[in-house]
Amino acid sequence: MAKVFLDAGHGGHDPGALGNGLREKDIALSVTLKIGNILKNHGVNVGYSRTTDVFLELADRATKANSFGANVFVSVHCNSFTDSSAKGVETYSYPESTTGANLSKSIQNNIISSGVYTANRGTKTANFAVLRLTNMPAALVELGFISNAQDANILKNRQDELAVAVSKGILNYLGIPYKDGGSGSTLYRVQVGAFSVRANADNLANELKGKGYSPIVVTVGGLYKVQVGAFSVRANAEALVKELKSKGYEAMIVTA
Ligand SMILES: [Zn+2]
Repeated sequence: MAKVFLDAGHGGHDPGALGNGLREKDIALSVTLKIGNILKNHGVNVGYSRTTDVFLELADRATKANSFGANVFVSVHCNSFTDSSAKGVETYSYPESTTGANLSKSIQNNIISSGVYTANRGTKTANFAVLRLTNMPAALVELGFISNAQDANILKNRQDELAVAVSKGILNYLGIPYKDGGSGSTLYRVQVGAFSVRANADNLANELKGKGYSPIVVTVGGLYKVQVGAFSVRANAEALVKELKSKGYEAMIVTA
């Protein structure tokens, strides 16, 4: 059985980056737990550095992964920058680790093919402690910039899709096929419009982007549908629908 060790960045007295009403430690933990559930549904043995809001030293995270005997280590973080226009997703591996680089590419590529990102910043290498001190192929994903409004919207409203994308990247690397429905729960998608003409869907998507949302256009049954979020908890989808309706959009929840 493949063993994957998941490391939710920061925690406890270390909130990580702060921005747009969000704390990195909360986003990292929430997405990490979702990834863990998806991997477990694919028969993976999952270990965690933390499953609650507690602080751990970087070296302790690596020690835990090493003693767990993980085949793969993935650390989950959000970026931040003083210039709030900086945005996008990037994934790191340790310099000269070929296996780490392959894992990192697999995660980055799957996020890009999910469409849930604002800019593809690519894969990079860095001498991060958790990458250096772990004995197995390791990657650190920066899901988006908490300091950028559009990325923060993704980090808040599209965690389930991000978790699926990261999980696909890990499973791909391990040679385990991804099963649809493997997230183990229905996704409640918030849809704002459905059009037979692509340009109309794109126009609405661009208008929503201008208001800080992160819509994607999906093709279902010959229609171009504009979706602005997807949640495993229905109440979260309902909250976003309410917010969009208050801004004059005909938002609704769809489950396909
Ligand atoms: Zn971080």
